[in-house]
Amino acid sequence: MPEKKTKYIFVTGGVVSALGKGIASASLGVLLKMRGFNVDMIKCDPYINVDPGTMNPFQHGEVFVLDDGSETDLDLGHYERFLDKSMTKDNNVTTGQIYHTVITRERHGDYLGATVQVIPHITEEIKNRIKQPAKNNPDIDVVIVEIGGTVGDIESQPFLEAIRQMALEGEPEDSIFLHLTLVPYIETAGEMKTKPTQHSVKALREIGIQPKMLICRSAKELDESLKKKIGLFCSVPPKHVISAINVGTIYEVPLQFHKEGLDKEVCEHLHLENGEPDLEYWEEMVHKIKNPTHRVKIAICGKYVYLKDAYKSIIESFIHAGQENDARVDLIWVSSEDIKQKGADKFLADIDGLLIPGGFGERGVEGKIEAIQYVREKKIPFLGICLGMQCAVIEFARNACGLEDAHSYEFYADLKHPVIHLMADQEGITDMGGTMRLGAYPAVLDKDSKSYKAYDTEKISERHRHRYEFNNSYREMFEGTALKLAGLSPDGRLVEIIEAANHPWFVGVQFHPELKSRPTRAHPLFRDFIAAAVEYSFKRVKSNPAASGDVQSRQRVG
Ligand code: GLN
Repeated sequence: MPEKKTKYIFVTGGVVSALGKGIASASLGVLLKMRGFNVDMIKCDPYINVDPGTMNPFQHGEVFVLDDGSETDLDLGHYERFLDKSMTKDNNVTTGQIYHTVITRERHGDYLGATVQVIPHITEEIKNRIKQPAKNNPDIDVVIVEIGGTVGDIESQPFLEAIRQMALEGEPEDSIFLHLTLVPYIETAGEMKTKPTQHSVKALREIGIQPKMLICRSAKELDESLKKKIGLFCSVPPKHVISAINVGTIYEVPLQFHKEGLDKEVCEHLHLENGEPDLEYWEEMVHKIKNPTHRVKIAICGKYVYLKDAYKSIIESFIHAGQENDARVDLIWVSSEDIKQKGADKFLADIDGLLIPGGFGERGVEGKIEAIQYVREKKIPFLGICLGMQCAVIEFARNACGLEDAHSYEFYADLKHPVIHLMADQEGITDMGGTMRLGAYPAVLDKDSKSYKAYDTEKISERHRHRYEFNNSYREMFEGTALKLAGLSPDGRLVEIIEAANHPWFVGVQFHPELKSRPTRAHPLFRDFIAAAVEYSFKRVKSNPAASGDVQSRQRVG
């Protein structure tokens, strides 16, 4: 039998950024998976940072942490969610990593005196990295390679050159180029404009890449004449011009692409034969997202709440959890500094649940603590993630145990009560990025806990990204109080989950559950948090019938 060849799908983007290349790539990925193919994905990021771990999430979006501890681009989150598959460090390639490898080799003398250049040395290394997943796992049928940035950017040129070479090295049916562009609607002219797409394809052609198919983002559906026009100028048949209008939920994109024939045309070109995809479970999931019966209001209280990309996985986890609870989840973004200034009651009086996300730095912490006290005392469901859990411990120590100056060692070094501190073996390490507990760690749950009820298993594994921990010197003090240590590391040294007893649902976790939630498998903690919020909303509406309109409304989860 001839050796199986892995096929490559290269996805580039043009005209503007933020067209949703990650979601488009992941959508094609899940369609191929539904056709029975073994799919893997790679994101090539053209920035010089080695990974996004040290980049400001409010500029770059969330840092998506993998099981193996790699800190990656948020698109890896889309890949994991759509493909329902865990990624590894090999799935995210950055310019920083490529140069780091090449320069290290050069210092070793591995290039034997050659002049080390972008072509061929950098491009060779890019190609090696793109081929790595299929080298590790020869069962992979297709690798989708998403090139970050926009065609025309200086930074992404070595990546485009590398994929151009890769395509030439194989047969035409071994790879395909897809290009995502924008077809703007010009209000004053009442017309859709194809020129930006033409220019973007021209820029690609100048570097030797002729896209086989175009995915056109637009406010309105492209009609046949527009497809013909784009096809004519861009040298693709009109059936290879895919119309991608805005849809109600990102999970609808694969269905939209399938209707437009994207997966069929890609498979035909790549000589991949497997019959039609099985879309049923996906359609059912999308239907449930779009037609919820209940509606709950969840407040997210953080430092900078205006940049939603920093909380991408949390937002998605709520969509998954809402779907499983037949509920639309309305997210209300509350600045913790506003709470500090104006009081929790002003912002949290009519919510059904509070989530405090992870974060770094002291700004806004006092407002978060105040918000937690409010929901703990009013018995409103609560989920605290990482810094959110740490704030819950501080709040409880201060307000239920009387340790007025309880705080985290992250913010003050000379504390009387550092209820959150560094582990002894971490002290003295100051190098950025290298000192955090990163990636998957196991935990063991107390069988008499909300968490155990949610997971329905004693042993769990969750992803971490933090430096500070619950201070074990205070364990004894908390014993016998309403603060329960519901999950510990298997050796018992680290507190992974705290819960408040005498409360319908109050859970704080040192890890990031949002990184493992999937659209067809909501994370158990998010699922049960929303179940508790739905319960709470019934009570809230009963005690205030004026709010009943909320519950009856049947709209899309936004
Ligand atoms: N800043 C805290 C720590 O380093 C929490 C981090 C987080 O929320 N991801 O431990």
